[in-house]
Amino acid sequence: MKGVFPLDKFNETDTPFYYYDTDLLRETLRTINTEAGKYEGFCVHYAVKANANPKILNVICQAGLGADCVSGGEIQAAINAGFSSSKIVFAGVGKSDKEINLAIDKDIFCFNVESVPELAVINEIAAAKGKVARVAFRINPNVGAHTHANITTGLAENKFGIAMEDMEDIIGQAEDMKNVKFVGLHFHIGSQILDMGDFVALCNRINDLQKQLEAHHVTVDNINVGGGLGIDYTHPNKVSVPDFKSYFATYARHLKLRKGQMLHFELGRSVVGQCGSLISRVLYVKQGTAKQFAILDAGMTDLIRPALYQAYHKIENISSEAPMQTYDVVGPICESSDVFAKAIDLNECHRGDLVAIRSAGAYGEIMASQYNCRPLPKGYITEDMH
Ligand SMILES: *Cc1c(COP(=O)(O)O)cnc(C)c1O
Repeated sequence: MKGVFPLDKFNETDTPFYYYDTDLLRETLRTINTEAGKYEGFCVHYAVKANANPKILNVICQAGLGADCVSGGEIQAAINAGFSSSKIVFAGVGKSDKEINLAIDKDIFCFNVESVPELAVINEIAAAKGKVARVAFRINPNVGAHTHANITTGLAENKFGIAMEDMEDIIGQAEDMKNVKFVGLHFHIGSQILDMGDFVALCNRINDLQKQLEAHHVTVDNINVGGGLGIDYTHPNKVSVPDFKSYFATYARHLKLRKGQMLHFELGRSVVGQCGSLISRVLYVKQGTAKQFAILDAGMTDLIRPALYQAYHKIENISSEAPMQTYDVVGPICESSDVFAKAIDLNECHRGDLVAIRSAGAYGEIMASQYNCRPLPKGYITEDMH
């Protein structure tokens, strides 16, 4: 749908750039708040790693979400955008001393701890400051998500998280430490999950673990189920807002929350994925022997998902209504993997046409690099185009 882009403004703007439709972002956030708001104790955080553009963070912060961070830089970005540190959680397998110091100084809500050595370091650093750090343990639930191998994180042998059989041991160790307080369990099984059955499997696992802990009189104040809800990359216009209704209803139905328990979510892709497009210009149309190439001024340095995960993004020629032709759409980078799509249909392309690579709001701009000494792409929101 070409109508979703302010084309006249695009013609004045240097390509490539990211364009974020903030009306759609706000609609998405309203839906999240409405659907999660139906259930007591549901608390939604935004996974900052999906997109840390300050303007995007600001819109999300205004909607009242918390922030899920995986580095000190993200904690700082979230605080700069206005997130209250009491709504920040901090995950990651390799938290540095400097990052732990920052998180304790800022009094964040909770560390999602991924190993025993990390717990010891947090305790030590908190002790030196005379503070008590709240910790949740990231448990590896051994629930497989039906998604790309590189973005599955919940299987048994994995760098992420603590094995289920070690859960009680680490909780016991935390109880013996003076400067950490055990406040919950954390899980995250992967990304781009569209099969609600995967979340049901996670709920069942958590129910079992809770029963096991209760038998040993361990109470858990917070359950955090991570993120992972997928988006429809094939139909960005038809399904522009993910099915949050089913998502939250699945947890409400299958996860047995205890009285007063909080259930936290950390959604990234599903919040920002559909509102962003990478806007690029056709530099050349090159005729091969059996095919033709549309060579864009955007490359894998601007959007690496196709090269990294063989990810599909819908591509549209937004300057042309001419009949369709078939193209390989490629970037200018000196790497054979710098391909956005092979053998796709686009309205006939000419040099100078604007092309939109859709559903690029998550893991797009934030993963950009300067390889080939290219400048980083800029990000504009709807309000910038007025
Ligand atoms: C990446 C990540 C998320 C967000 O995942 P999405 O698939 O973008 O929703 C949430 N929690 C943790 C711990 C993560 O690493």
